[in-house]
Amino acid sequence: MKILKPLFDNNRRWAERIVQEKPDFFEQLAKQQNPEYLWIGCSDSRVPSNQIIDLMPGEVFVHRNIANMVIHTDLNCLSVLQYAVEVLNVKHIMVVGHYGCGGVKASMGNKRLGLIDNWLGHIRDIHRLHSTELNKLDEQDRFNRLCELNVIEQVGNVCSTNIVQDAWARGQNVSVHGWIYSVDNGLLSDLDVTVDNEHFKPEID
Ligand SMILES: [Zn+2]
Repeated sequence: MKILKPLFDNNRRWAERIVQEKPDFFEQLAKQQNPEYLWIGCSDSRVPSNQIIDLMPGEVFVHRNIANMVIHTDLNCLSVLQYAVEVLNVKHIMVVGHYGCGGVKASMGNKRLGLIDNWLGHIRDIHRLHSTELNKLDEQDRFNRLCELNVIEQVGNVCSTNIVQDAWARGQNVSVHGWIYSVDNGLLSDLDVTVDNEHFKPEID
């Protein structure tokens, strides 16, 4: 195996290290996964879910895309969400954005980037929705705040899916959280927008 050999070498050393610490780790994991968390994060290479929250394989179910978006017509994201909620019974869903997000930054400019402009249009909608607040800020603060507002809006999008609404209606305990990560110090902050089925008010006929 000569192609990308360093990565295979890394992988072999990593697997050996884990087996040294826990000899039956992979054997047990191969039987089933039982994660409590669904992480919806950005594809940015600086924001790797398991490493940031220091969890092992099997502990967090992950969906990542550019700028951690939850779009109502994105069957990829919705399929992950449905599987996580209805099959894996995750207890917590966290939408995790990060400061310095290239996707959010690109949405603030006018440069044409191609296909991704369609994806970033969703962030431009958020900018427009919060323009009164954002326009009072200088450029750096506006960028930081838009990263946060994007997370908050995506938390709302998760909560309004019929997947999460139906889970709450049947009394399933699942909370949705909005977090933001600082790439410059490695720390997560909770944006305090957690929603769970305590907040769910079923419609009365
Ligand atoms: Zn990003």
